[in-house]
Amino acid sequence: MSQPQSAMHDFDAVVVGAGISGLYALHRLREKGLRVRVIEAGTGVGGTWYWNRYPGARTDSQSEVYQYWFSDELLAEWNWSERFPPQAETERYLNHVADRFDLRRDISFETRVTAATWDEATAGWRIATDRGETLSAQFFLMCTGGLSTPVFPPYPGRETFKGELYHTAKWPRTPVEFAGKRVGVIGTAATGIQVIQTIAEKVGAMTVFQRTPNYTIPMRNPKHDDATRAAVKARYPQMRHRVHDTFAGFENDFQPKAFAELSNEERVRILEDLWADGSLNFWIGSFREVFTEPEVNEFISEFVRNKIRARIHSPAVAEKLVPTTYGFGTRRVPLETKFYEAFNRDNVKLVDLNETPIESITATGVQTSAGHIELDMLIFATGFDAGTGALTGVDIRGRTGQSLKELWSKGLRSTLGMQVHGYPNLFMTMAPMSPAAAFCNVPTCSQQQVDWIADAIMYTREHGAAIDPTAEFEDKWVAHHDEVANMTLVPKTNSWYMGANIAGKERRLLAYAGGVNNYRIACDDVKQKNFEGFKVA
Ligand code: NAP
Repeated sequence: MSQPQSAMHDFDAVVVGAGISGLYALHRLREKGLRVRVIEAGTGVGGTWYWNRYPGARTDSQSEVYQYWFSDELLAEWNWSERFPPQAETERYLNHVADRFDLRRDISFETRVTAATWDEATAGWRIATDRGETLSAQFFLMCTGGLSTPVFPPYPGRETFKGELYHTAKWPRTPVEFAGKRVGVIGTAATGIQVIQTIAEKVGAMTVFQRTPNYTIPMRNPKHDDATRAAVKARYPQMRHRVHDTFAGFENDFQPKAFAELSNEERVRILEDLWADGSLNFWIGSFREVFTEPEVNEFISEFVRNKIRARIHSPAVAEKLVPTTYGFGTRRVPLETKFYEAFNRDNVKLVDLNETPIESITATGVQTSAGHIELDMLIFATGFDAGTGALTGVDIRGRTGQSLKELWSKGLRSTLGMQVHGYPNLFMTMAPMSPAAAFCNVPTCSQQQVDWIADAIMYTREHGAAIDPTAEFEDKWVAHHDEVANMTLVPKTNSWYMGANIAGKERRLLAYAGGVNNYRIACDDVKQKNFEGFKVA
């Protein structure tokens, strides 16, 4: 059945995005003998690591788990230089993968997909690009990333600013000079923190505009020497399986003992050890009750608050930088290096937007309720329309002609975060209602999802022309997603996890909170039962 079906289309599969998921999808599907075309808006590969080239950008995942596992040769030959590599190194790695597996010949760069329409007659997708082309493909994969649609806050006057204006997710490829300049940074989460700690000593003066302080963990980032690398590589054979068996797709998992079984001294000792590790282990390797039990959460929150306070000279500034209105780990916890020390410098000033909100951006700076701040450069580290942004940014129309944007405007839904009922042969990675949308080390979930999608595609080609989750199965997954979400403390806090950073966006936990391990089991179960819950015809 697959041959005549294939012959009807320009490609067996069109993949949008040449980031971690898209590159792997191309490799995997090509390996299966499919004709694949990747469409990428940038001039190069890398996705997040192509666009987010702002000063200080680096991973918060240990390099050994932030990589592909599919090739032993690749694992053997690639040497990470440090525990948490900078953006340029991860971008170099992804370029190396593209070259080594000869991926570029199937990628169209500087092209954006604008629309995709399901065509029942040919059981495939008609895909339009901003270059005026229309491609047809049996399968359509949106590997567009969960954090790829940057947002600017709706302050009036941004377009009137005469100085240099940047969004961190659209950082220029040409060098930006900071020396002697008066720089404003809006946003103090994972991205803002990396920018602020990196440029504080380079700028003339910096004003940091903060709305919500974050809990952070100090990063310990040793360089890898040959001995360390050999030791880490010796763990690869176990690690490649292990990452799929943990809550968040890392090597480590929660503490084996319940918080309640331990004395206070034991709890503090465990937290101190995890703190000294200088990684996200303090979050997803500590007590699992941090996500569900307010008292445990408060214990850990207070531990972190005290660590933060101790590093800031001015008690008044410290109180602004210490989070008190929500619990640790209910928003993304950034790693930092000397972030708080930046506020001990004479050239750095913190503006608390809860006390003195921004009223407008002017030609020469920022107007707050307390006065005007003159700036030469304004940096927006203000985040993304997470999870849904890139998917609703393309006019995707399924069986009934309804767009995904319209469907989701009535309530978010998906099946395993990879398909949506009524949109046959459309697959998504890092999309809402899978752990990949927020609670997963990205390469772990990206590879697991692409592998599952590749199997679903091959099954479909053997048994029919199209695969579509049933409405009943999707309802069940959505209900399960919501049930698990509501067992956690995360919905109590405002963040992009809950869509709360975008005015008018549905308040709904974007990522499946049941764990990478349980999610993988659920996906495998569907596959083993010949895609039970999906209609293949
Ligand atoms: P984000 O977490 O959404 O943070 C945006 C920042 O901008 C927040 O401080 C936010 O304040 C502020 N902001 C938004 N709208 C504002 C407004 N109208 N006025 C004032 N401030 C405003 O975005 P992000 O920092 O780019 O991070 C997004 C995600 O990318 C992270 O959670 C992480 O998953 C990923 N990331 C990872 C790394 C890494 O691995 N090292 C680095 C960077 C990013 P509020 O908190 O008050 O909304």
